Amino acid sequence: MSEIFQNPATSRLRRQRTLLLVYAVAVTAALAVSLYNNNNVEASMPSDESMAEIAPEEFEESFELDADLKESESPEILEETESDAPHLSELIATNAVGLNEDAITIAKGDTFIGILTKLGLDYSQTTDIYTVFKKVYDVRKLKVGQVLYVTYTTDNKYNQLTAVKKVMVEPVSGTRYIVEQNAEGKYESRVEQDDLKDEIQSLKGPIEGNLSSSMQNAGVPSNVVGNFINIFSFSVDFRRDVHAGDSFEVRFEQKKAPNGKVVKTGDIVYASLTLGKDKLELYRYKDKSGFVDYYDEKGLALKKTLDRKPLEFKKARISSRFGRRFHPILKTYRNHDGVDYAAPMGSKVYASGDGVVTLSKWVNGYGYMIKIRHNSEYTTGYAHLRSFAKGIRPGVRVKQGQVIAYVGSTGRSTGPHLHFEVVKNGKKVDPLKVKAATGENLKGAKLTAFKKMVADIKASENKELSLKAESTAGQI
Ligand SMILES: [Zn+2]
Repeated sequence: MSEIFQNPATSRLRRQRTLLLVYAVAVTAALAVSLYNNNNVEASMPSDESMAEIAPEEFEESFELDADLKESESPEILEETESDAPHLSELIATNAVGLNEDAITIAKGDTFIGILTKLGLDYSQTTDIYTVFKKVYDVRKLKVGQVLYVTYTTDNKYNQLTAVKKVMVEPVSGTRYIVEQNAEGKYESRVEQDDLKDEIQSLKGPIEGNLSSSMQNAGVPSNVVGNFINIFSFSVDFRRDVHAGDSFEVRFEQKKAPNGKVVKTGDIVYASLTLGKDKLELYRYKDKSGFVDYYDEKGLALKKTLDRKPLEFKKARISSRFGRRFHPILKTYRNHDGVDYAAPMGSKVYASGDGVVTLSKWVNGYGYMIKIRHNSEYTTGYAHLRSFAKGIRPGVRVKQGQVIAYVGSTGRSTGPHLHFEVVKNGKKVDPLKVKAATGENLKGAKLTAFKKMVADIKASENKELSLKAESTAGQI
């Protein structure tokens, strides 16, 4: 990028000066034109009719989607530009010397054609630039606050614009859209793209108040915050499970322009939440076929849904479905608010999804029961248990597939079975209608590759820590 472009302040001043000049010249030109007309020399003047033919049509076609453009281009201005400019540029072209570069910040109501004609460019050249530019960049996409860089020549006698040499816009840092005059004076357009550097950005911090504002305060871009919350949303109820003193860590891909500016942020490669004494960690892994998912340290896939049959005994048959049924003990029709799986006494009961145990006790009718809150939406219940697995008590975080209890026949029960219920937003729903679990755990070569990746990430973290320790030592 040329140096002149980097000083918008001077460019703005220059622009103001140019506009004053344009105004002065326009007044002079208007006088000249009236003199010209009074002299009855009409040969080189375009007639009103021919102008009417060209101008409105061109504008309609180019800007049919942009109402602002049509409004801001009043016919008066057009006529003035049309009739004056050719004379001026013809007059001036022979002694063009000055080269100007303006950085024009798009203001409300500005249009591409409006900006160029204000600079003093004639209408046909303006539409020529517009048409050529359109091949790479649609100027209707220009937004208020964006900067349009215009390079143009002026004559030294009248200091009036003679030709626009180059127009450039950089809507995203590192990508420049350019229209430029070649040696033959023809306009050509192109896109310049800086080589972007891929980096992994690592940010962490304490959670104060809510998670997303804490992350944003730490400088995490909002799209990354959204993705972070998304990947944990299956296993964390952010409203209830996150407390003061908890913390987060995130590593994500980003692209940097040569000037050091971050141009794009990409996928999260590592996400971690420390909730109380639990540390939840997820790693992104992309296999050779391009399939991407998140896994825990052991290569177990992030489970996005509940297991409908949370039992070791996979052959367990359904002995009673969800809904209205004749109760075998109460001998009446009642609503069955879960699904019953007949299974051998003592077979393992799994957590249906990641979550926090909210209840593990004797409940009348249900016998020994466990409840797990998975996220802001889902809770699951497990009843008639013989006993609880070691360590299972309220407040304990469990993972999908973890053994939480053993099948029994406690409470109102006729034989060993698991009564399993799913509560969605406070309402009991049919567990068999919950979406089936997705995400396959990594195995074999994939698991080996994944473990190496995790080790690399951990090693880089340790390196960072030791570097930090060194730099701290240096300061002391
Ligand atoms: Zn039941």
